[in-house]
Amino acid sequence: MNQFRFSRRPDIGDKVRVSFEFFPPKNDEMEARLWDTVTRLEPLKPKFVSVTYGAGGSTRERTARTVGRILKETSLTPAAHMTCVDAARHQVDAVIQEFAELGVKRFVALRGDPAAGVGTAYRPHADGYANGAELVGAMRDAGDFDISVSAYPEKHPESPDFATDIDMLKRKVDNGATRAITQFFFDNDLYERYVERARRAGIYIPIVPGILPVHNFTQVANFSARCGALVPAWLAERFEGLQNDPQTHALVASAVAAEQVLDLVERGVGDFHFYTMNRADLVFAVCHMIGIRSHEAEAAGSAAA
Ligand code: FAD
Repeated sequence: MNQFRFSRRPDIGDKVRVSFEFFPPKNDEMEARLWDTVTRLEPLKPKFVSVTYGAGGSTRERTARTVGRILKETSLTPAAHMTCVDAARHQVDAVIQEFAELGVKRFVALRGDPAAGVGTAYRPHADGYANGAELVGAMRDAGDFDISVSAYPEKHPESPDFATDIDMLKRKVDNGATRAITQFFFDNDLYERYVERARRAGIYIPIVPGILPVHNFTQVANFSARCGALVPAWLAERFEGLQNDPQTHALVASAVAAEQVLDLVERGVGDFHFYTMNRADLVFAVCHMIGIRSHEAEAAGSAAA
């Protein structure tokens, strides 16, 4: 049967590395949820955890506060996302400096979306960095940072074609990016084709798939339409009729995400970046399936054996 194609090999966990993405909380309740999530995922020893940066720099302080708390209170390595929307170069440089003084050594460098919203025309600040590649260059000049950038397996909606899109990724790599993290996608063939295109263009950095466990199919479908990610018909069918059945929705979502990740493992992928949406359960379950486990779980497993 199809679903048993990917039996867990005991050695998978040794070959696979994960990172987790969080967004900075807006209020006390969201803050509590984020810290429950961080506490649950920390024992899985991710390579790093990243904290997003709001549109137009609107969450700069909250991103810094969240990153600072991760540095102080956990064993995790945080990466701060940064965008250069609507900011002059000196302002962006000051934020890079501020993060560096906090102890940040990793960044995820992004141009960001236009302040007027996704789909409106992007206009760089007159004295600002024009795109992700220029921001990467500024970070490289500011210090010895590990710099990740974005990549778009289905091309960025503003890119007229794949060649333009890949060219931007190449510029980011030439400026110092050492890893690309992809926009989420649900069709692994599209990811594989994109990686092949990048390799043909002389891009050899890891292109880490961004995995989005589907916490709410309706929201994901709406967001996908805005950011140019395809929602295959088979995915819509899996979640059909589950809008008012959160328990089954969650079970299906963890099966779908595990299936996607296990298929990518079969294709030789070793690094995964999870968009956690500040929730632990689905990500924790998928990590378990690929052999990423806390020491406590491993110990309990060996004791039972
Ligand atoms: P770039 O890499 O600079 O450009 C994206 C594409 O647009 C390029 O491929 C290029 O071909 C095309 N392009 C750029 N400029 C032009 C131009 N002038 N004319 C024609 N084409 C052009 N957003 C946030 O606000 N905060 C975050 O924390 C955040 N984190 C993200 C993390 C990941 C892993 C990803 C994939 C996205 C994230 N985003 C975030 C969303 C991102 O800001 C948007 O997708 C934004 O529209 C593009 O930013 P970028 O850095 O990818 O752009």
